[in-house]
Amino acid sequence: MTTRRTEGRGRRFDSILDTVGDTPVVRINRLAPEGVTIYVKVEAFNPAASVKDRLALGIIEAAERSGALKPGQTVVEATSGNTGIGLAMACAAKGYPLVITMADSFSVERRKLMRFLGAKVVLTPRAEKGLGMYRKARELADKNGWFYARQFENEANADMHEATTAREIVADFAGERLDYFVTGYGTGGTVTGVGRVLRKERPETKIVLSEPTNAALVKSGKPQKRGADGGPEESHPAFEPHPIQGWTPDFIPLVLQEALDSGYCDELIPVSGPDGIEWARRLAKEEGIFTGVSGGSTFAVSMQIAERAELGTVVLCMLPDTGERYLSTPLFEGIGEDMDAEEAAISMSTPGYQMP
Ligand code: PMP
Repeated sequence: MTTRRTEGRGRRFDSILDTVGDTPVVRINRLAPEGVTIYVKVEAFNPAASVKDRLALGIIEAAERSGALKPGQTVVEATSGNTGIGLAMACAAKGYPLVITMADSFSVERRKLMRFLGAKVVLTPRAEKGLGMYRKARELADKNGWFYARQFENEANADMHEATTAREIVADFAGERLDYFVTGYGTGGTVTGVGRVLRKERPETKIVLSEPTNAALVKSGKPQKRGADGGPEESHPAFEPHPIQGWTPDFIPLVLQEALDSGYCDELIPVSGPDGIEWARRLAKEEGIFTGVSGGSTFAVSMQIAERAELGTVVLCMLPDTGERYLSTPLFEGIGEDMDAEEAAISMSTPGYQMP
């Protein structure tokens, strides 16, 4: 698959799954420093509103092709949310039952979304971190003969980004300058898949990887202990719980390891959760672009690059999901339900229809 999945959205499709990918790249018009252009790739345009729709479809269709997934077989996966939502959409559209394991620390709306899309969500104790939900999924798959999606090790993950995300970027910047590609990592599928293609076709584009300041696994330089299947053997020593949901599990995923070993990361810039939240809020208020904490964090790093870059520089920043997925999280802290003083004053400035 080396073609774009869709040729624009304003037409008829045979399945919701045919609308995965081909997300828009949008210029930042008010926040970017003068003389530098920042573009964002808005993955919320995917049908289940995150970048993980790509991986979900990629893994399911690769397993159908290889025969690893049989008609009607149950799919199981460990996920902090977006992968589960994408898989729930894909499994609903294709008729596979889906069981998700998920630590109980992730936002409640994510669980509800998966259940709404027909998945069963099995919670695991937050104290057991990412490894707990991962091992639970393995246990369930082994006992029941289910298809385990294994997003952190599955080759179909980066392959899908190579075939779609990367092709879209190359096409959107054909004949034009692209100095930086900025992304964080969860599984590393995005950076590995895009890295494979940019290195060959846009060798001048610098790839900037980010991770949470307080969970700087890659920056620590300490290797990940792995089992025979490439999965994590134990939690990485540099891990600490962080507020950037979807980023940096408590181990360095095998899928990301390819990007590190192949030199797809020119620069590693950590970012703090509060900075990410701040920039997600500013993107919403000052650009009308609604993204989650990981998008805000990637944008925070993109702004740092833009501030120090020479005039004419072009930066592309990944925005993995929608801010709507974070209503019950710190991203919305301080966003009230009732009128604040300013809103009450507007209400009282005319005589009619005032609240008691
Ligand atoms: N941001 C969010 C919100 C995510 O859910 C994910 C995927 N877990 C990512 C970023 C990172 O994407 P990838 O797995 O391709 O590294």
